[in-house]
Amino acid sequence: MRFWIGIDDTDSAKGMCTTYLSVILMEELEKSGMRVEGFPRLIRLNPTVPFKTRGNGAISFLVNGDLEEAYEITKSCMEEYSMLDDEKTNPGAVFVEAASRAMDYLPKFADKVIKSVVSIDEALFIIGKYFIPHIKFKLGRGLIGALAAVGAELNDSTLELLSYREPERFGSKREYDRDSFFRADMETYPLTWDTVDWHNDVVVAVPSSPDPVLYGIRGDDLNAIKKASEIVITERVDKKQFFVTNQGTDMHIIDERDVKAVENFHSYRLRGVVAEKPYDIEGGHVFFHVETRFGKLKCAAFEPTKQFRDVVRKLEVGDVVDVYGSVKKDTLNLEKINVVKLAEIYRLENPLCPVCGRRMESAGRGQGYRCRKCKTKAEDRIRVRVERDLEEGYYEVPPCARRHLSKPLVRMDVDKKHVFR
Ligand code: ATP
Repeated sequence: MRFWIGIDDTDSAKGMCTTYLSVILMEELEKSGMRVEGFPRLIRLNPTVPFKTRGNGAISFLVNGDLEEAYEITKSCMEEYSMLDDEKTNPGAVFVEAASRAMDYLPKFADKVIKSVVSIDEALFIIGKYFIPHIKFKLGRGLIGALAAVGAELNDSTLELLSYREPERFGSKREYDRDSFFRADMETYPLTWDTVDWHNDVVVAVPSSPDPVLYGIRGDDLNAIKKASEIVITERVDKKQFFVTNQGTDMHIIDERDVKAVENFHSYRLRGVVAEKPYDIEGGHVFFHVETRFGKLKCAAFEPTKQFRDVVRKLEVGDVVDVYGSVKKDTLNLEKINVVKLAEIYRLENPLCPVCGRRMESAGRGQGYRCRKCKTKAEDRIRVRVERDLEEGYYEVPPCARRHLSKPLVRMDVDKKHVFR
């Protein structure tokens, strides 16, 4: 029998990672004679949900084997490896037959989990309606992600090769040669991306959390990713696994066409006109307001978005922009911006003397302007077009600030891209 296993919410901020648990689970299933077909899928869900540990990722993979036996193996793996002591860890797993009717409904549910917030009851309702075998510990919130990971329909997808540490090293400082990651990027970009951030001098591929991941190489091309992983020099790699993912696809973004009202905990692409000049607040965060079809919206480029803030600071009232990002606390956290049309900005200046070409002075309140030397006069100040220090086109946050789901410009088929690398 062919069936999908979906699994989520096994880890905590203190350790473990659902991808790692899945790799162990796949090994156990194969040891018992079952076959995992193709690569497992790492599906990133709504990045704004408050329950997430880190990147809100869930896993699914297709198994050819015995469902009842797989159920028992999965249960004991979850018991052994899940961070059950952590209050926020609520594991869930589902087993969905590949040929079942549930598979027709789950894509719609997955789309909702990626773009919106759903309740555990909604997941339990689907499980009940389609008689889906499942495992849940504690609240079982992981059932939401587990079902979504099975259902997600990937019209666009990318790959990630995750390398894991030796278990005895979990929690300790990761050992790796920084330069080798920059070399790997140099040799394989743009078929791989977000391995490093050149401008900010950060190795993005290596996490700093205490989980089992040593590094992850992301990209669109399997061979380029393999090549990058052969170039990097690190402590011993214990396990490696390719995942098919929705990372870098903008799958969380709801396009303006489909928006009825802008709500918190949702991510959008919205067209707007800059309504107030950007301003900085303490901490280096930059804000501005755009007037959209749905009303005025506050947008933010927070400090971690680094040089992206310089683009935002150059916006002027009247600029037409498309803003991309998640709305939280009534503020859209920018992931990308498309400067569609720059406003024409004018400045008033004292006129120039038509004889000597020097700038005239005020002749006194309400008395126009004059050239002291040539005695020429003019009534009004002149309007001078200000040269804008900003080009139209797309701008993105740098790799060190990229959200898992955000589509990097290097993957976007658009004109006028300003790639931060
Ligand atoms: P990691 O990236 O390390 O795997 P995580 O960030 O994926 O961790 P989880 O531990 O999986 O975080 O916790 C996220 C929880 O939120 C899961 O229980 C998942 O089912 C649930 N969840 C995910 N998306 C939604 C959503 N849109 N609405 C409601 N609950 C959600």
